[in-house]
Amino acid sequence: MLLFETVREMGHEQILFCHGKNPDIRAIIAIHDTTLGPAMGATRLFPYLNEEAALKDALRLSRGMTYKAACANIPAGGGKAVIIANPENKTDEMLRAYGRFVNSLNGRFITGQDVNITPHDVRTISQETNFVVGVSEKSGGPAPITALGVFLGIKAAVEFRWQTQRLEGLKVAIQGVGNVGKNLCRHLHEQGMKLYVSDVNPVKTEELKKLFDVTVVNPDEIISLDVDIFAPCALGGILNSHTIPFLQAPIIAGAANNQLGNEQLHSQMLAKKGILYCPDYVINAGGLINVYNEMIGYDEEKAFKQVHNIYYTLLEIFHIAKQQGITTNDAAKRLAEDRILNTKHSKAKEIAA
Ligand code: NAD
Repeated sequence: MLLFETVREMGHEQILFCHGKNPDIRAIIAIHDTTLGPAMGATRLFPYLNEEAALKDALRLSRGMTYKAACANIPAGGGKAVIIANPENKTDEMLRAYGRFVNSLNGRFITGQDVNITPHDVRTISQETNFVVGVSEKSGGPAPITALGVFLGIKAAVEFRWQTQRLEGLKVAIQGVGNVGKNLCRHLHEQGMKLYVSDVNPVKTEELKKLFDVTVVNPDEIISLDVDIFAPCALGGILNSHTIPFLQAPIIAGAANNQLGNEQLHSQMLAKKGILYCPDYVINAGGLINVYNEMIGYDEEKAFKQVHNIYYTLLEIFHIAKQQGITTNDAAKRLAEDRILNTKHSKAKEIAA
């Protein structure tokens, strides 16, 4: 991999390679863009096959965070950290050493919890740095606000697709009824929508049946149901060359991260099928909005108000995609890049004045 060439192409500002012998630690912190604010991005611990795979993950995910924050209209940039380690070898000493690296960036990078990092680990990291979010849980966790964002995204998609604000009677298939899926069901049920749910854990669907009128579907069947909206709220990579041919829902709007197996290929496949896809990092930004608000001093009213931007942003994205004949995924990127460029120009003007 040509390191500087790759970094230049992807537009990163800074990559920090963190190394320590005692305790043994290897980590990469990627800061993609801080035009809008400090780079926010969770820390992932993973036994990567090699260093290149770890670096690629950090580069890709940090760039995604820039787009996510810009679309969410919050003053934050994009970052991501990966610790290269087997979860079994994780120690508090290692996490504290990592925390000191985060601290050395003096607030340019603010991190939180991702794969193989627990709330306990985040608290351990926070012993060495204040630049950590998700420690206080003042908001009671991100799932309710994420679900609200997804619900608002569904509203925007229905309005754009069918020029109606009426949700009653529409059929929604929800894949995965964990923290977000369950909260989403509540919003949809309140609107009188017909719910079809699946989960690989039958306890979750049984629990849901006691709360709302839902039809439980086999996990293999949920994606191909003849419904109005498919809401992936379980796994990444669910929209791929094997699944897209079976999709019948004209709208895809769900919380799962990285829904597209391959961003370019599969967003185009969806567009060709006439499916309106709500880019995952736009519709599920409630979680980021939540941690951002925890960082600046949690105010529930303010956080919930910000989440309503998801509705307007998605409508804007759908219009850009239609006008410019591009996929909604590309339209979201264009919107984010424009917001960043406008801020860059205003900053340059301020400096010149
Ligand atoms: P969760 O673990 O609470 O729920 C996921 C559910 O999906 C579980 O009940 C699991 O049993 C089920 N599941 C797993 N594989 C499945 C399959 N093949 N078919 C059907 N069900 C399956 O997670 P969550 O917090 O509800 O998050 C859901 C998704 O949204 C994840 O992809 C997550 O990364 C993303 N997300 C969550 C938040 C948040 O605020 N929690 C924010 C942004 C994005």
